[in-house]
Amino acid sequence: MTPTTTISSGRPSRRPHVKLRRARRSQAQEHQRLAEEILSAGPARDAAQAAATLTQGQLTDAEVQAWRQDLDARLAAVQQHSEQNLGFIEEQIALATKEPMRLLAERAAQAKANATACQCLKCHLQLRHQKYLARTIDSRFGPLRVFRKYGWCPECEEWQFPADHALGLSPNAPASPYVQEMAALLVSKMPPEQAVLVAQRMGLKLSRCTLDREAHRQGLRAEEARAGHLNALDTWEGLQSLSAASEGPAAQPFTLVIEIDAWNIRERDHWGQTEALRAKGEKVSRWHWVYVGTVFRLDHRAQTAGGRALISQRAYAVTRAGVEALIRQLYYQALVCGLGQAQEVLVIADGAVWIWNAVADRFPDARQRLDLYHGEEHLWAVAHELYGKDTPEARQWVAPLLEQLRNEDGPALISGLKELQPRLAQSLQEKVQKQIDYFENNARRMEYRQILQARKAVKKGTATPAQILKANEPLGSGAVESTCRQYQCRFKRTGQFWSMAGDEALMCLETFWRNGRWHELFPHAKITSAQLN
Ligand SMILES: [Zn+2]
Repeated sequence: MTPTTTISSGRPSRRPHVKLRRARRSQAQEHQRLAEEILSAGPARDAAQAAATLTQGQLTDAEVQAWRQDLDARLAAVQQHSEQNLGFIEEQIALATKEPMRLLAERAAQAKANATACQCLKCHLQLRHQKYLARTIDSRFGPLRVFRKYGWCPECEEWQFPADHALGLSPNAPASPYVQEMAALLVSKMPPEQAVLVAQRMGLKLSRCTLDREAHRQGLRAEEARAGHLNALDTWEGLQSLSAASEGPAAQPFTLVIEIDAWNIRERDHWGQTEALRAKGEKVSRWHWVYVGTVFRLDHRAQTAGGRALISQRAYAVTRAGVEALIRQLYYQALVCGLGQAQEVLVIADGAVWIWNAVADRFPDARQRLDLYHGEEHLWAVAHELYGKDTPEARQWVAPLLEQLRNEDGPALISGLKELQPRLAQSLQEKVQKQIDYFENNARRMEYRQILQARKAVKKGTATPAQILKANEPLGSGAVESTCRQYQCRFKRTGQFWSMAGDEALMCLETFWRNGRWHELFPHAKITSAQLN
């Protein structure tokens, strides 16, 4: 290996490498040769591939001509077959265009690589011993071969490929940014064995292993980006900028609603070691909690005629990393949604103690509401114990208690349960005591009466403006429960086992997608979204 000595100043050299100089010199002859090859009826694809070794940024006339001939032939064939519909036309055009697009991408990538200064990415020193190395990239249009200049940074003591950075390539994975994005998108939405087939249908030939690995890599990148966002919570400036970002024009005062829930995921963290760990007396748990929260402004919620809630804008926080981690993410999302401007905060959840402790810590002034339907379930549980499942007696017994719950009459409800106790067998007494504790712990979170009255008034058409607002308040945490169900559709399938590193990374990708922040991970995605909207 002989070091290139043409570079001495701190500025990038404009003098191309000898290989490229030679390539450019022979370009004219090469064009001639290609034109002859195409004219001598060589297959269009081979000719185009030969031309791909050139590094100019556009298609040659000969290539364009070859493409048009190929396209015309394909379309003519479709016209001859009466059974081939527009779908065949779409396929044939896409197929014919793939190779020219691949060539364009390869050459444009080469031009970008050539234009990248061969400087250290960290200290910006001119790299020494500069050379060229080819690499093959998996792209949207197929494999691209690109030569990149690389060199040694004496300061950082490492070899670097600045062009890889400029092109958005990872040092150890061949995926182009588009392929990175598709792997992330597909595998966060469906199991990799399905993703392989869907990718194939989209024209991307990727193995299950590649998809899996690439999606995981992107998930780790998403986690890193999330950690970066959360850093803003640790500084005064960061908090200020977060609050400022959500500050809109002066509008109606609004309530910020936060709903929290959890579901469990099956993990296998100790492959092959389970027996050994159990023998040592260590508890090996397969099931772990995934904590989920959602945040929205009450004025972004509406109800359909059928009583279904529609929320036009909402943010999500989802993590397997514990309650603390959830609450930190949720606090960040709440700030983004306007926590700083909200007139009040309403937190709705089921009776889980960990939720309320964490809420009291991060959102000390928030109004707290026990999910009405969870409360009702607890009463039904007692009714079923006493009178059997779904018997008329159970229904008759539970009716007045449900009424007390909806009327926020906690004391009556609790004393009713307490009066019942002495007449019961020991085991049943304990079960009822658990429910008494539940309602005593949540007594100040039962607040449903005004909402139910307001909803009745709205139905009758007699509601005051204040009642119309009140009627829109959720009684339960249905919004977050449906979020949990949606995550479970992907992450809780029969026979699925996860590792914590694996599920957290993919769930983080899915949450970026749901929060409308996908383009922060894949900036190129913005171009198409902007054109489609
Ligand atoms: Zn350096």
